[in-house]
Amino acid sequence: MGSRFDLTVVAENQAKGDEYMDLAIAEITRIERLISSWDPNSQTSMINKNAGVAPVKVDRELFNLIERAIKISKLTQGAFDISYASMDRIWKFDGSVMEMPSEEAIKQSVARVGYQNILLDPENSTVFLKKEGMKIGFGAIGKGYAADMAKALLLKHGVTSGIINASGDLNAWGTQPDGKDWMVAIVNPLNKNKVFSWLPVRDQAVVTSGNYEKFIILNGERYTHIIDPRTGYPSKGVRSATIFTKNAELADALATSIFVMGVETGVDFVNQLKGVECIIVDDDNKIITSENITLKGIEKQSK
Ligand code: ADP
Ligand code: MG
Repeated sequence: MGSRFDLTVVAENQAKGDEYMDLAIAEITRIERLISSWDPNSQTSMINKNAGVAPVKVDRELFNLIERAIKISKLTQGAFDISYASMDRIWKFDGSVMEMPSEEAIKQSVARVGYQNILLDPENSTVFLKKEGMKIGFGAIGKGYAADMAKALLLKHGVTSGIINASGDLNAWGTQPDGKDWMVAIVNPLNKNKVFSWLPVRDQAVVTSGNYEKFIILNGERYTHIIDPRTGYPSKGVRSATIFTKNAELADALATSIFVMGVETGVDFVNQLKGVECIIVDDDNKIITSENITLKGIEKQSK
């Protein structure tokens, strides 16, 4: 998935621990093959290749993931949209974009974005992208999904505690061997090596999206890799968004959504969701949290 995974398991001994690691790695690799848009043979690539042409039969697992992604699009009024992906022809974050894309090019590209045009047929387990040139991509939900699945597999094998951390999208369960809670560090987006708060994680996912890793600078302005699917322009105003909830898939998608919604709408939205909390850092480095989060002693806890 183009990112680093750190796996932690608590096991009786080294051999058992290694065995659990291998299980988790195999599971993450399996999911990557299913959802990758780089692998031309993945089912996801097949769906994209057949946009505007024909429905593609896919595994139930992929079908269900797409169905849940569409639900999140509806919940976020389109801020989250896996069909944002046709925009990646315009906004590339590999250093190849040197000047602001033209309004016309953006307008044309965004015309192909829209979760309403992802057609699901549950009976035949097919996915059809209605418009030619449409594309889906799991960049904002796949890592969270993989973390959830790896955790679920290890739980099934009797692993009582661990952490699956997909580059800052993590799902933790159980406790440390000494019975203490796992602790997660929230980093200062201005300085990745500086932690501004430690929080305990008890059987939950913590996912952060930031604008400090993937971005381009055009005319002195920073453009992040999270695109507003409704305008085709990179989102603005949010520096980092951290979501706490039960599963990493939802947390991953919501962290991305907050970027598109902006600080105020984002916090209001999270406050309406049961079992979801957030910490947002805005462009002025102001920290905004949802109602049930208290960052007591940020100073004291900072390292
Ligand atoms: P990160 O990859 O830094 O963890 P995210 O989880 O927020 O961050 O995912 C960002 C990725 O999601 C982008 O690189 C892109 O592939 C994809 N993406 C960008 N905008 C959207 C959007 N509005 N909805 C869904 N996916 C998006
Ligand atoms: Mg995300």
